[in-house]
Parts: sequence; C-alpha cells; structure tokens
Amino acid sequence: MQTTSYTYEQLLEKNKQYLWNPFTQMKDYVEDDPVIIVSGEGRKLKDAQGNEYWDGVSSIWLNVHGHRVPELDQAIRDQLDQIAHSTLLGMANVPAILLAEQLIGIMPKGLAKVFYSDSGATAVEIAIKMAFQYWQHQGKPNKKQFITMREAYHGDTIGAISVGALDLFHENYASLMFPTIKAPYPYLYRSPFGDDPEQIGQAHLRKLEQLLIEHAAETAAIIVEPLMQGAAGMINMPAGYLRGIRELATKYDVLLIVDEVATGFGRTGKMFACDHEGVTPDILTAGKGLTGGYLPVAITVTTDQIYDAFFADFEEQKTFYHGHSYTGNQLGCSVALANLELMRKTNLVEEVARKAKMVGQRLHRFYELKHVGDIRQVGLMIGIELVFDQQSKEPYAWQDRVGARVCRRARELGMLLRPLGDVVVFMPSLASTDEELNEMLDILYQAIAEGTA
Ligand code: PLP
Repeated sequence: MQTTSYTYEQLLEKNKQYLWNPFTQMKDYVEDDPVIIVSGEGRKLKDAQGNEYWDGVSSIWLNVHGHRVPELDQAIRDQLDQIAHSTLLGMANVPAILLAEQLIGIMPKGLAKVFYSDSGATAVEIAIKMAFQYWQHQGKPNKKQFITMREAYHGDTIGAISVGALDLFHENYASLMFPTIKAPYPYLYRSPFGDDPEQIGQAHLRKLEQLLIEHAAETAAIIVEPLMQGAAGMINMPAGYLRGIRELATKYDVLLIVDEVATGFGRTGKMFACDHEGVTPDILTAGKGLTGGYLPVAITVTTDQIYDAFFADFEEQKTFYHGHSYTGNQLGCSVALANLELMRKTNLVEEVARKAKMVGQRLHRFYELKHVGDIRQVGLMIGIELVFDQQSKEPYAWQDRVGARVCRRARELGMLLRPLGDVVVFMPSLASTDEELNEMLDILYQAIAEGTA
C-alpha cells in the first residue's frame, strides 16, 4: 500500500475519523494541527506538511542511533528473508536465544535468565507475577504485597498502574488497582528534609526501613525506577539511595525489582542505571532502547535463584503461566542484536557519558532564564522544571499549561518535545553528535525563553 501519496489534510481527516491517540485529549487534538510523521533520518523526523524536526524526546525516550540506521534496517531485512515471527511458547527461535545470551553478558552480575514480552508495561506485569509466585514456591504465600515509590510510573496496564503512584494518570482507576505500600521518594528540589542530598537520601531510607520493619513479612518486592523517576517529572535520586534500597531489601528478605525501561541501554551514561551503584536487582525490567527504538521488545531478567524456584516436575505445578502472542519476535530480537553490536562498535555508552557532561555545562546557563526552577540530568535524560517564581519555587497553575506552551514553541522552532506537566523533557537520541546536541539546546533555550515570556 502506497502510504506517501496522501496530503496532510487527507491524513488529518482520517486521523480524526478513525484514530484515538494515546495520552492525548482528543478534543484538543482534533482542533489542533497535529504533526503527522511521514519519515525520519538520523536525529530528524519529517511530517506530512514537509516540515523537519529534531526528535527531541527520542520518539518517547527510546531512540538510540537515530532513524533509518543502515545496520538496523539491514538486520530486519535479513531476518525477513528467514521468518518474521514464530511462537516462543514451548519452542524457541534463533535470534531470541542469541539475544538472551548477549543480554546476560551486559546485565548487572548475577542476572541470569531473560523472559521476553513486548512493552515496558508487560515487562513490569511479568516482574510482579514472578515475584508474587516466587514466594508461593518458597512456602511463604503471605509475601504478596509490593512496596512502591510515590509518583512512580511503570506503565499503563492494571498491574503496572497498581505499582505506580502518579495520581494524574492512576487515580481514576483506583478501584481496579491492587493496593500497595507507598514509600516516599526523595524530591531534592522540594524536600522537607533540607538541602543536603545525602541527608535527604538517608531520611528516606529510614522511612523505607520503617515500612519494611512493619510489612516485610507480607511483602514480595520493592519496585523502583533507578536514579531517575521518569514520568513523575524526571526526578533524580541522591547518590547512594539505590544501593541503600538494595541493602534494605536484602536485610528484610524482600525482592528488589528495578525498572530500567526508561534508564536502560545507555541512557544514563552506563549500560544500566544499576551499574552506577553496583546494584544487582532480583528482577530487572527493560524495553524502549533495547531494539534501538525500532520494534516493541521488552525483557524481564532475573536470577537463577528465582528461575530455580519455578524449575520443577510438571506435577508440582510451578510453571510460570505467562506469555504473549509476539513474545520473542524474531524481527525485534534481530534488530536488538544489531543495536547492541552497533552500541559496542561506536562505544556508545562511554560517548553518552562524555556528551552528558558537555550538555550539563550548557544546561547550567539555562538558570539565567527566570522561570527555570530546577534542571535535573542523569546522562542524556533531562528534565527542566519551570516555575512561576524562581526564588520561592512557586509552581505555575497547572491550567496554564506552560510546559505545553514551551513545547509548542519548540515545535515552531524545529524540535519535537513532550512535556510532563511543567517539566520540559529533553531526551535526544543517544548517538546525537555534539553539533546536533548544541543545535537542539539552542532551540530548547529559545523555546523556554519565549514560551515562558
Ligand atoms: N516503566 C518505566 C520506568 C517507564 O518510563 C515506562 C514508559 O515510559 C514504562 C515502564 C512503560 O513502558 P511502555 O510504554 O513500553 O509500556
């Protein structure tokens, strides 16, 4: 089917008539002139009106090497000559096996088995069910609660929202969700525990320990976004906090699930955010960047200890009854293999760490803008919190939609962004060059200056 022969107006009409976009108020959308992407190249996207934009959020935090990367395109073509998909239920396929081996090679030490699915949310569902069932197999069926962090986001399925805690997204569904124990998360910019990150971290660890003292006997796992809470507004943890959580989980005999869906595969300047603190979780979830941003493959990776708890004679009924139609999809696994190879060849993770420093230096100048309240950065994961008053940190009224206004201005200036409330998110493709990053930062600065004027 020839998809490029339609005009923007024709496509928009069909969009309005047939398509319901995610995380989108359709009333605003149908009255607007939304971007309809036709193609991409490198770090840029092109729309149906012929406009070109920088992809300033990596197509929602997942693009690694850019768009139309020859090596990745070729991997999919080569795999297509073999087969597009066959099931992983009760059998296997070549790329799924080879990718699992590669993944275990780069995971935090101690993680040993890969379970595939197709989105971050499904990876989290699997983690929840694995942790829950693990304790049943251990003869501790009472351990079925989850401790989660306030403002956490782990995806949009019912299990994933249950372990989430972002009222704006989750409150409506409260009666559908299973209850969890909420631990406060350190928000350094607005902390009741003062200004010292270490002290703030310690105060929160004490609170978490208190929860564990009260609830460890009925808790299956703690789940956390490592180093940076993403959808909450890019809220970074104090150094040592993740390690502290690991130590508490071990001390009180609860599993630790680390959700690396946003942070994994180089985004933070290490392969995984866990690597910054030498942490091995019991279960790690990842997705997004795994395929370079090409195809929906996600993973839930766990230890032999957990795997072995399910490994038994059939009659013992310890099978993990979970799977999706497209689990282990060959096209996805092939492009993920090509992605990892290209990451190695281009020294991508070390390069992200280097570029992040350069970006950080430039971002510091953004404080000159009088509505920039806080700039939070881990690697190339950046959030800029806009406030009404820089001195008092007074936020804008949410109805003013200042974040959206800034992103709209960025679009006019040639970069696509998507805000989280009044936090402007900047998550460029990891392979963006210094020059490209500088051009994007120029637009970001101007968009904030003009969008908040
Ligand atoms: N977990 C985290 C930490 C995320 O940031 C996201 C998405 O942004 C998800 C899970 C959900 O991933 P997906 O959108 O692929 O379901």
